[in-house]
Amino acid sequence: MKAILIIADGLGGRPSDMDGKTCLEAAHTPNLDELARRGAVGLIDPIKPGVRPGSDTAHLSLLGYDPYQVYTGRGVFECLGIGMNVEPGDVCFRANFATVEETPDGLKLVDRRAGRIDAGQDDLAAALAEIALSDGVKFAFKASTQHRGALRMYGGELSRAVTETDPHKAGVHISTARAITNDDAARRTAAAMNEFTRKSYEVLKDHPVNKARIAAGKPPANIVLIRGAADLPHLTPIDRLYGVHGAVVAGAALYRGVALACGMTRIDAPGATGAVDTDLVSKANTAIQALEQLDYVFIHVKGTDNRGHDKDAPGKKKFIERIDAELIGTLMGKLDWNQTHLAFTGDHTTPIDYGDHTAEPVPILYVGPNVRTDAVAEFGERAAGRGGLGRWSGRALPILFNYNNWLPKFGS
Ligand code: ZN
Ligand code: ZN
Repeated sequence: MKAILIIADGLGGRPSDMDGKTCLEAAHTPNLDELARRGAVGLIDPIKPGVRPGSDTAHLSLLGYDPYQVYTGRGVFECLGIGMNVEPGDVCFRANFATVEETPDGLKLVDRRAGRIDAGQDDLAAALAEIALSDGVKFAFKASTQHRGALRMYGGELSRAVTETDPHKAGVHISTARAITNDDAARRTAAAMNEFTRKSYEVLKDHPVNKARIAAGKPPANIVLIRGAADLPHLTPIDRLYGVHGAVVAGAALYRGVALACGMTRIDAPGATGAVDTDLVSKANTAIQALEQLDYVFIHVKGTDNRGHDKDAPGKKKFIERIDAELIGTLMGKLDWNQTHLAFTGDHTTPIDYGDHTAEPVPILYVGPNVRTDAVAEFGERAAGRGGLGRWSGRALPILFNYNNWLPKFGS
């Protein structure tokens, strides 16, 4: 038996999205409707009712973990997701190139994203490697897309109980990282963060990439601000829990990182971008190929959430229609439906009016030979409320695995 879990980020919506319908309800989705007809639907609270999910915590919950137990912060997923190695005891951060200016009383933030820099980041990252930190703290920095990057600190006792150097708004001085707990590891980590941030400015301010940016009238990427301190989540990986091996196909680093932390292998689909321009047929074909070797695949698509944050209802509807035609359509034609169970859902609701995540449950469908079918023959929020699966919280992946008889028994 094989299994596929598909999560469309921010899939859920509200009636205010499109004249009384959610974007999903308004979208033309013949393939998802057909899978709903062949399978069963329900509503899932990604974490639990009345909790507004972050994408990282929602994914941990959907993959079968209790985020209140295992979540340590976002930085570690960013590091893992862009291909950095992370060891127990390391502390990881989200990082961004930013623009600061010198003032008599310190460095003031001008642009938190350094004009969304889109070239030269690897040269800047190479320059950062020259920085030496005090007290035996070592680090690795890697640039990812635009102004984004990730920083891993290691060597000796470190702690994620620290604040950050990113003030989150322009026009104010950069923040001083502080220890949240009263111990040497947190104080040592905060000191290393402040030293790294200050030295990043010294190394970057006169870098040729920035001289060229200034000459072209662009804001220089003259500092690295860090936030989201996290260490590896304390969890038992999926392969140890269930004895099956799987892969993640995701264009966006955060989701690869969550899946890697849970024990999946990373497989990159050509043309997968983690944005609305992604190649959804390629993702489907990559998953089908991966299933020849592996037990299950987790496919993540991000464009639905991006369009929700953009407050772009026609764009979100159109992206859902692309998921239906290109991703689901390709899978429908090529999967062996006698040997496969598939689940399709979202990780939270991202309504158009609000432009951010909200706590409503999201529709979920399961299809495959062992699914007890229901009477619903369409896929949408309100249709899912009439489905045979009812409403529950999290654990979408273990529920999928149950259909394949992969769950260990609790008790005797
Ligand atoms: Zn999300
Ligand atoms: Zn979002």
